[in-house]
Amino acid sequence: MKRQSPLFLRLNKAHSPVTVLGHGRRIGLWFQGCSLRCKGCVSQDTWEAGGGMPLPVAEVLAWCRARIGALDGITLSGGEPFEQPEALSALLGGFRAWQRSGLVFDVLCYSGYPFKTLRRHHAPLLEKLDALIPEPYAESLPQGGIWRGSANQTLIPLSPLGIERYGGKDEAPAEKNMQVAIAGGRVWMIGIPARGDMAALEALCAARGLSLEQVSWR
Ligand code: SF4
Repeated sequence: MKRQSPLFLRLNKAHSPVTVLGHGRRIGLWFQGCSLRCKGCVSQDTWEAGGGMPLPVAEVLAWCRARIGALDGITLSGGEPFEQPEALSALLGGFRAWQRSGLVFDVLCYSGYPFKTLRRHHAPLLEKLDALIPEPYAESLPQGGIWRGSANQTLIPLSPLGIERYGGKDEAPAEKNMQVAIAGGRVWMIGIPARGDMAALEALCAARGLSLEQVSWR
């Protein structure tokens, strides 16, 4: 009998707990590869489709399963999750199975594609999400709420749990927060920076004689 080859997900990074991208304490998975190239994107290290690490979806699911019991949700970002639709579908199928078995957590996904495009091409994937933040980042627009980079991006609840946790919550004015993680010789800034934060960070470091190289925001 021919063995089926495993389905791979190309991942930029994974981290937990993430506290700045959705409700509560979460797992964060950043997909590798994004063809949208939004001006002002702070995650340019996720653009190259051949970058990151190819990992079997089963391995990513096992990593998440070992953590999710103590956490509130999973945030999928990138990169562009919908540019790996097969891997995304398999991942979401695993998450939904855990939810049906009684684990309470939400799945929030970012995408740079418009909601109507996602509805047209990826409706079955949307059915497996609790909330979605679609639309490309628009540098020329005001910032969005605490979990959104620009005001054109909407926070759309897609399930009863999504409505409970996200219905209107992101609209409250609040300061944006960032997390810092250090792993594998990299320093990761996690979250949605306020406008000018990254330039201010570089200026502060430069004033102390430290130049930042290979940063993801330029
Ligand atoms: S902001 Fe998001 S959708 Fe836009 S280029 Fe960056 S990763 Fe891609």
